[in-house]
Amino acid sequence: MASKRVVSDCRLLPSEKGCTLVIAGTENEVLPVAIRHAVDDHGEEDTPELRAHMKEMLREE
Ligand SMILES: [Zn+2]
Repeated sequence: MASKRVVSDCRLLPSEKGCTLVIAGTENEVLPVAIRHAVDDHGEEDTPELRAHMKEMLREE
């Protein structure tokens, strides 16, 4: 479980920038980075809803 790798793919998110960033690693590694990226680069607000959405977006590698 701890070593299972997941992927967060910005191409699955609606984005005016056409961001294609992919972040891969364990969920514990990917989630904070993906959330920070969404806030810093996508202008999202860091809310429980965003966190839940980012978590739903993770795919198994
Ligand atoms: Zn992005």
